[in-house]
Amino acid sequence: MTDIFDWPTFLREFSHAAAGQGFLPEILLETEVGPLIVWERKGEEPPIYISAGIHGDEPAGPLAALKLMEDGVFPVGRHCMICPALNPSGLVLKTRENRQGADLNRDYVHQLSPETVAHTRWLASRPVPALFVSLHEDWETNGFYFYEINLGEDDPQRASDLLEAVSAHFPAEPGLEIDGHAVRSLGWIYHRAEADLPDFWPEAIWLAKRGCPLSFTFETPSKAALTARVEAHCAGVRTLLMNWR
Ligand SMILES: [Zn+2]
Repeated sequence: MTDIFDWPTFLREFSHAAAGQGFLPEILLETEVGPLIVWERKGEEPPIYISAGIHGDEPAGPLAALKLMEDGVFPVGRHCMICPALNPSGLVLKTRENRQGADLNRDYVHQLSPETVAHTRWLASRPVPALFVSLHEDWETNGFYFYEINLGEDDPQRASDLLEAVSAHFPAEPGLEIDGHAVRSLGWIYHRAEADLPDFWPEAIWLAKRGCPLSFTFETPSKAALTARVEAHCAGVRTLLMNWR
């Protein structure tokens, strides 16, 4: 893997890997740079749902989704939904926002962007996921951290297993406050199911409001090598899926 994210190559490789794993594509939207595609393999519900590439300057998420797909980690027999590249124009331009300047991951309450409209319409047509994992990066940090939104049973062991798995690549981000949030323990933000800014919901809040009981948002440090960021995301997702029951 190089430190370059190439959109046409990504689309081709993801399609190849996902088709090989029996996933079916659905084009949610045609953008100026190509299709916004989601992938699905039917099975027992409720689904497991992985989201990546909503911020175009965070290529580790899409590349991790690709690697997880190539490695065949998604549980066979369970309904799995994968959105590997939610912001096609941003991924081409390598900008956080889409081409029109919208931060899609703040647009899930008002839904002013065509990407968000198409995505929420699709999500609403599917069963509410039992587990949601969203793959992000942070330009200001050096370690790994994650947000958890949990409407069910508390499970601190799961959080520590997750940090342990990722520690092969990154330590937990130091500091008792990250991105304006007090941590529950190092690297772990236990977030309520409410948006920090009421008019600017991220995807995770929209899903929580819909009843998704368990949501994780991973944040790897953009300053580090891309390979390590991708591996860290993969290790985290693998750990959650391994312990899934
Ligand atoms: Zn992000």
